[in-house]
Amino acid sequence: MNPLETQQLIIADQSATQRQLRDGFTWLRFENDLEQEFRRADIRTRLPQIRFNFYLATTAVTAFAALNFLTGNAGHLTFVGMGLFAAIVVSLASAVTISSLPTARKIYPRFAAIGIPFLGILVTLASLRASENGSPVMLVAVLIAALYIYILVGLLFYQAIRTNIILWLVYVLFSVIDGVAEADVIYNSLVLLIINIICISMAYGLEMESRTHFLERRLLAETAARDGLTGIHNRRRFDEQLQNSWLQAQREQVALALLMVDIDCFKTFNDRHGHQAGDECLKAVAVALSRAARRPLDLVARFGGEEFAIILYNPTTSYLQEISTRIHAHVAALGIPHADSTVGPSVTVSVGVAYVAPSDDRSYQGFLQLADEALYQAKSEGRNRSVFSEGAYDTLKTGAFRMSRRVI
Ligand code: GH3
Ligand code: MG
Ligand code: MG
Repeated sequence: MNPLETQQLIIADQSATQRQLRDGFTWLRFENDLEQEFRRADIRTRLPQIRFNFYLATTAVTAFAALNFLTGNAGHLTFVGMGLFAAIVVSLASAVTISSLPTARKIYPRFAAIGIPFLGILVTLASLRASENGSPVMLVAVLIAALYIYILVGLLFYQAIRTNIILWLVYVLFSVIDGVAEADVIYNSLVLLIINIICISMAYGLEMESRTHFLERRLLAETAARDGLTGIHNRRRFDEQLQNSWLQAQREQVALALLMVDIDCFKTFNDRHGHQAGDECLKAVAVALSRAARRPLDLVARFGGEEFAIILYNPTTSYLQEISTRIHAHVAALGIPHADSTVGPSVTVSVGVAYVAPSDDRSYQGFLQLADEALYQAKSEGRNRSVFSEGAYDTLKTGAFRMSRRVI
């Protein structure tokens, strides 16, 4: 396998989004982590609309009840009917409340999984009772309930289908118990079935679309964070991550390491072998570095030109040593011939390592400068080596900066 293929494999492997888009999701399910993230994002964006839909439903149910009362249909309201109506209003009020809580993103999905089928059963029973009492509300109510369950309350496609199967069974069961005429049960069941088929087709299309949008948005964000040539993280992503890691390390009181990696004598490589070969070399080195640092919080980025930067979160000194050794070994293993290098027969890199415990009186800009100074030192000491700097950080901002350096 050539380096480019290997690189593409590594990059594709890193991106669950690309993998999912490539493999498709006919059954409306992503691979695990992505699925969880989609559900969180989905509920987050839909909650305001869901809340509004519950307000609307509460108003509609109250208006229906008032209408029934005014038109005289409520004349023979039973105790059970009143109880069902009260239960529906209370359930809807709970749904409004829960979807308005600050913790709604977390608790609403769990509430909906149980609460919506429960509410659906109440509506089915209430409309069944109302129709037995001569009100024409039955089909309108179940049509609206189906629309709500499939589209308006944030249930996922399969949850919505499950809920509607339960409601359909409840409808048939209670129609039989209540002795509704067989022809009416068959007619209403068929209407329910048709409504469900239409809603299923609509809900499938909508969820497919929202999943596709989710993946496309993610892919766009991922692409914006990648370097066009090498496919590893770009400078923008690096700057973001450096700030984030800096703050996190400060909060957690742990150390942070920054490695600046620069290809040796790259100008003469380009002059001798051509720009195209130079690009291939950059890609291969990017792969070698990505392989060297693979812990979840490690970040390998193209800093610019032929320079790369690696952030290591809370590394031990022995891990730092190990990474540094690995970087040189992996680049050497690429065995890219470099006839005009002052260092050796093949491409090599120099590495400047900064290692600090972030604190209030320090800045990540100073941290970068420290790594840069160490890299400069590695170059002037003969290249193809790592220089490790530590302990001189405080003097950086005063301008009286002197490093204690040691070659590792
Ligand atoms: P040193 O060992 O001191 O680092 O010397 P150097 O020649 O590597 O450093 P210098 O800064 O003089 O040259 C960097 C070269 O990197 C010059 C530039 O043409 C090349 N370069 C920067 N970006 C790219 C790129 O995207 N593709 C290619 N092919 N070359 C690039
Ligand atoms: Mg260079
Ligand atoms: Mg350079």
